[in-house]
Amino acid sequence: MKCRHCGNTGFIPFADLQTAPPSNAMLTEAGLLEPELYFPLVVEVCDACFLAQVDEHQQASDIFDSDYTYFSSYSRSWLQHAERFAAMATERFGLTEKSHVLEIASNDGYLLQYFHQRGIPVLGIEPTANTAEVAIGKGIPTVVEFFGRQIAEERLSAAAELIVGNNVFAHVPDINDFSAGLKAALKPGGVISLEFPHLLRLIEQAQFDTIYHEHFSYLSLGTTERILAAQGLKIFDVEQLPTHGGSLRIFAAHAEDETKRGLSSVAEVLAEEERAGLRARDIYQQFQPRIERIRADFIGFLLEQRGAGAKVVGYGAAAKGNTLLNYCGIKGNELIRFVADLSPYKQGRFLPGSHIPVVGPDRIEAEKPDYIVIFPWNLRDEIEEQLGNVLGWGARFVTAIPELRIR
Ligand SMILES: [Zn+2]
Repeated sequence: MKCRHCGNTGFIPFADLQTAPPSNAMLTEAGLLEPELYFPLVVEVCDACFLAQVDEHQQASDIFDSDYTYFSSYSRSWLQHAERFAAMATERFGLTEKSHVLEIASNDGYLLQYFHQRGIPVLGIEPTANTAEVAIGKGIPTVVEFFGRQIAEERLSAAAELIVGNNVFAHVPDINDFSAGLKAALKPGGVISLEFPHLLRLIEQAQFDTIYHEHFSYLSLGTTERILAAQGLKIFDVEQLPTHGGSLRIFAAHAEDETKRGLSSVAEVLAEEERAGLRARDIYQQFQPRIERIRADFIGFLLEQRGAGAKVVGYGAAAKGNTLLNYCGIKGNELIRFVADLSPYKQGRFLPGSHIPVVGPDRIEAEKPDYIVIFPWNLRDEIEEQLGNVLGWGARFVTAIPELRIR
């Protein structure tokens, strides 16, 4: 294995989740009878540039195909997040009808719609055809392609005042090629905004369930700065966001852009990472025993409830839940009867690996479970509010990470 940024071959062990099927590969009833592909799910950290990464076992084109079932617009809080970003960016960077906003991994148009409403020309780049179709239906021009240096040079050359990439930078197998594409597509004086989960928060909160095959890199600000600098880009501002358990939103510009000076926010986060030890071996090597403890506690809870005859169900058929369930070796619906999800694209299907059925949220009301395990813990408040009525029969909410909590 070679580091996908610097090519170094020395690695520090970090998280070994054994093997799992791709997290978004939801199964149909017929698919349950077919063999399932399992891939190693192991994250190691380059001991030269400290990029935490999974080895590439599967082509990105196999993961993000037409069966891809993640539609951003099904999360209300994520839509609000996108709307606030559009308002902020329009004002801060003075965007007008003459500007051009490019979003990479624009999904179903959840973000670009808010620029479009303001009359600002937009373009989305989205590799999954079924989500792109929804965006096009909303009037958002969308190119169905993977983003990288080639498409940026051929079709988008220096076109964009603002390039947005939310939860895509960590998802690309060739992070250097992607960064070169950002450089090529950015107008002189333009701004790049990228959001990705912060490796420091992943470690602090033991968020090992955010590790899955679609997620190739786990990023600190220090490593991101280094990757972008190699392509002639500089980070001039960073914000810490609560999304996905703690994300960074970085703002970058051409290295030669004298109008963008590094703000103190950048030095502060870099110093915090340094103090936490992200540039040394220990913090990574101490991670595995913590996730093994979480696994033992969660399995213990499920077995105890089965013994007591209690009814346990899940909520939120997200990738996170699949990492947890597969790492815990859960198979079939004896311990967790079903997982409820709002998305009609997931209902009627089965989770990869565990084969737990996915149903509509109305089944919770019908079955009146004793416990509801919330898998997307980052949306816990939103989900508890949506399900408020279940408390009428005394159901309790459970989250497994960063430790088993029952409320
Ligand atoms: Zn490296």
